[in-house]
Amino acid sequence: MNDILTAPWLVELVRTCTNMYGHGWDERNGGNISLRLDAAELAEYCDLSAVLRRIPTGFRSETLDGMYFLVTGTGKYFKNVQYDPAANLGIIRLTDGGETAELLWGYSDGGKFTSELPAHLMSHAVRLGIDPENRVIMHCHPNHLLAMTYVHDLDERAFTRTLWQMETECVFVFPEGVNVLPWMVCGTNEIGEATAEKMKTARLVVWAQHGIYSAGRSLDETFGLIETAEKAAEVYLKIAHLPWKQTLNDDALRAIAEHFGVKARDGYLD
Ligand SMILES: [Zn+2]
Repeated sequence: MNDILTAPWLVELVRTCTNMYGHGWDERNGGNISLRLDAAELAEYCDLSAVLRRIPTGFRSETLDGMYFLVTGTGKYFKNVQYDPAANLGIIRLTDGGETAELLWGYSDGGKFTSELPAHLMSHAVRLGIDPENRVIMHCHPNHLLAMTYVHDLDERAFTRTLWQMETECVFVFPEGVNVLPWMVCGTNEIGEATAEKMKTARLVVWAQHGIYSAGRSLDETFGLIETAEKAAEVYLKIAHLPWKQTLNDDALRAIAEHFGVKARDGYLD
């Protein structure tokens, strides 16, 4: 058995937490990540038959039954993950139709997975139905996207169009746009279900006055989606109060999409 702290996927997740903290997106215990693992890649580092604890998840998901996830811990600080991965992270296998998480590694101080596990796992289930290669769900509190939800219309088409206009890359990086949830209490099955519903049509879901959810095949892709949208939101906040001389108009956005071979969301360009 190899040392799990050398597993490439664990090393990358730890680095991602550190990087996100460095961006200022994960103050205190803000933010959480779940990474789906294959049994085969996990078995090189962890005894799959040694269950440390059985923890109720509080919801059902037949789709995810038997799947493995590396998940950040509840109440844990992203800034600390690099110094003690075993206390701040855990590896779970879902059983009993998703109602039980079998802990195989981590949460070494008696902790458990993030309180946002419902939003993560319901989103995994939806995204796996769209893309069987989806592996990552990521949540954080990026400053400018968060600020934008106070001053910009929350209409998804309008919000998306503004982000697309702020940087040439945006319509190429997230051609399906961003979906937006109105403010809701976090940590509940209700916000989990609402987030998963929004994940049916986009990999980015903004939580108004809270933060953002992102889905992707890899940690890089998922991080990059947030990074790009956040950059666009920053540009918007720098110029929103100034007289605009020009912007990326719909012809330009259409040309970018055509050049890079992506399809902008139906009805989002005039
Ligand atoms: Zn949050």
